[in-house]
Order: sequence, then C-alpha cells, then structure tokens
Amino acid sequence: MSKSLQAIRGMNDILPEQTPLWRYFEGTVARLLDNYGYKQIRMPIVEFTELFKRSIGEVTDIVEKEMYTFEDRNGDSLTLRPEGTAACVRAVLEHGITGGGQVQKLWYIGPMFRHERPQKGRYRQFHQIGLEVFNLDGPDIDAELIIMTWRLWGELGIRDAVKLELNSLGTSESRGRYREALVEYLSAHHDKLDEDSQRRLKTNPLRVLDTKNADTQAVLVDAPKMADYLDDESRAHFEGLKARLDAVGIPYVLNPKLVRGLDYYSKTVFEWVTHKLGAQGTVCAGGRYDGLVEQMGGKPTPGVGFAMGIERLVLMLETLEQIPEEISRQVDVYLCAFGEEAELAGLALAERVRDQLPNLRLQVNAGAGSFKSQFKKADKSGALYALILGDDEMAQQVVGFKPLRGQGEQQSIAWDALAAHLATCVVQG
Ligand code: ATP
Ligand code: MG
Repeated sequence: MSKSLQAIRGMNDILPEQTPLWRYFEGTVARLLDNYGYKQIRMPIVEFTELFKRSIGEVTDIVEKEMYTFEDRNGDSLTLRPEGTAACVRAVLEHGITGGGQVQKLWYIGPMFRHERPQKGRYRQFHQIGLEVFNLDGPDIDAELIIMTWRLWGELGIRDAVKLELNSLGTSESRGRYREALVEYLSAHHDKLDEDSQRRLKTNPLRVLDTKNADTQAVLVDAPKMADYLDDESRAHFEGLKARLDAVGIPYVLNPKLVRGLDYYSKTVFEWVTHKLGAQGTVCAGGRYDGLVEQMGGKPTPGVGFAMGIERLVLMLETLEQIPEEISRQVDVYLCAFGEEAELAGLALAERVRDQLPNLRLQVNAGAGSFKSQFKKADKSGALYALILGDDEMAQQVVGFKPLRGQGEQQSIAWDALAAHLATCVVQG
C-alpha cells in the first residue's frame, strides 16, 4: 500500500477482534464509576493551544515537545488535547457548574494525542479514562479515588500485579521552599547532572527528581526530601489519606521522587505501576491540583483527579490472561433459511423473537447459500445454536433447533414457542 494510505505512526486501529476486550474494560469502569456516584462529561478533542500552555505549564515535556498544534482556517492556534484535565476545568468554569462551592464528581473517556516515540504501551493517539472532583479539599476524597481504582483492579483480576506509589508535594508555598533547597543542592553538583537535568534545573527543577539517568539518580540520593519541607496542613492531609488507605487495607509505597509530569499538582500525587509491561509501567496516575482552577481564571477551587491509560490496561489484561470467556462469543443463535419463502418467514420470526428477547444475540444469515455453506457460517459465528428453516419446517410452521457445541440432538420447535425455548437455553448477557 502506498505510504499516504497508511495510518499515522503511533495511531492505531482497534480491530474487531480487539474491541470486545476494550468494551469489557470500558463497561467495567463505567459501571463502577456510576456506582460511586460519578457523572460523565464529554469535552471536545480540540481546544485553543493557550488552554494547555496555561494549565499544563510551559516547561513540561507535553507543552515543550509533544503537542499536536496547528493553525485552523481562522488563523487560531489549536491543539489536539494531550490530556483531559485542562479541558474539563475549562468546561466547568465556562458553564459555571463549580460555582458557589458546588461539588462535581466527573469522569470522561476518549483519545488523547502526544507526539512521543511510539513503542509498546506508548502511542501518539492513546485513550484515557479520567476523573476529576471539584470543591472537596479533604483527604477522604483522595482516598475514595484510590479505593475505587483498587476495586477496579480487583474486578479485572490484576490487583496482584499493580503497586500504589504515593507522595505529597505540599502546598505551593512549601513546594517553593523545597524547590529553593533542591536548586541549591543540585547547583552544587551541577557537573554531575545529565544535560536534560541541567536544563530542568533552571526551568522546572522538581522534574529533575523524575530523571531516568543513573548518574543524576546517584546525585539525588542525598538531595533534600520534600517530606522534610511539608507544611503542617499538607502533612495532616497526607496522614489522613494514609490512615484511610490503611483502614481499607490498601498497600502503598511512599516514593519521595514521585513528582508527576504536569505542573499543576499539589499535596497528594499517586501512580499505580506494574512491572508486567516493561518500561511503560504506569497504568493510572493522578493527584490533587488545588491551585489549577484559579490559575485558569476561576475562583479558588480544590480539585483532585486521575487518568488511566486504556491501552496499557488492555495490554495487562492480555498479558495476565484476564480475559473473561463470555466476551469472546458474540453470537448466541444463528438463523439459516433456505429459499425465498423461508427467508421471508425467517426475517419475521427473528424480529418477533427479538421483541421478546431484546438481549438475545441473534444473527440472521445473509447472502443465502447451500445447507453446507450456511452451516459453516453458523459454526464460524461462534453461535451456540443454529435455527433452520427449510421446506419441511415451513410446511409444519416449526423451526429446526440444532445445538452447535455438542449437547443434544436437533429438535423441532413451533414458531410461537421459539422465544420461550431460547430463553431457557441461552444465558443472556
Ligand atoms: P508516562 O510517565 O508513562 O509518560 P505520563 O505521566 O505522561 O505517563 P499522564 O499524563 O499522567 O501520563 O497520563 C495518565 C496515564 O495515561 C498514564 O499513566 C498512562 O497509563 C497513560 N498514557 C500517558 N501517555 C501515554 C501514551 N503516550 N501512550 C499510551 N498511554 C499513555
Ligand atoms: Mg509522558
């Protein structure tokens, strides 16, 4: 195929054989969030570039080198969203739904775009489920977010393969004091830092903590710790969070180097990480961002949220073979009809059955065909049963009912009794 007709590197089709697992995952999360009282919000995929610069921070990997930014026909600078929090904050402000301290518990799902180096678990179009809570400032809600994801890992059967890492970044004042101490320490070791870290030391020193460079990591061993600079309020908040996680029995590891890639976090930050996916180990990440709404032009409004990467979680389900059996079968019953008259009767019968059993996955053969070819298609569909309408069945107003996966002989069922019969033998999802 010529190059121009291929998908863009790092942007993937999700093929029909993969979508059942995606839908299972998305459905499981959506049900869980419903049950905890979160409401879905849908934002546009494209926003003014300024939105991301203002919220994510100019000196971050995302804004510096990962955004898909272009000029539209009006000459406006637009960007394909690299994450969801900025647009979500913009939306709640624009519609005034967090005004007067109104609590909002929101979630969203959809594609995000970052120009990164594509590799396993890292793509240029990827998908997130994200969640944001506004106007609750206590550690109880931070804990709820973590408890909810913990339940999700349990439902998905991957709890043993993920680990919770936790840190507190303090308020912006205490972070400021810490930043000064860190800069002083790192400046004294300037020559031992890698080039990226030398640059970050000037622009965004906390991000140096995030380095993958071994020499810089060695320098960081004796660096000042954020925990020693935490203000009393942040310390109490962090203790409150840990007490709640302890109460529910959720294990965690404190990681003082966890700073997250975006500028807007304060107090709690956390990541769920796994060693099952190689280098791309973070499956869900988030934290508190009490200053963000104000920074974006709103009234001071506490906020906390997280986002999980769907590709990475789907990969995990595959790697750990946690794929429920039900999702691989997509057809319950396959109807074969032979001849024009039987096809017409079959169509009407299928619709009557669907009226009575709205959840039945009934596929009607299309494209006619011989006995042999229709049975082959019925079998290949994965259906449990074939329904057969030929001349004999038409004459007697019955349908042949044939188990395709072992159990039992073919029998004849009266048209009127078909739905009731199917109800007894097909477990409906
Ligand atoms: P990473 O450290 O892996 O680059 P990040 O800190 O940039 O992640 P966030 O912005 O916090 O990621 O996004 C939340 C989640 O979205 C990540 O934990 C990950 O699961 C997923 N994610 C982020 N970037 C990508 C990507 N390029 N491809 C696939 N999933 C991604
Ligand atoms: Mg990243």
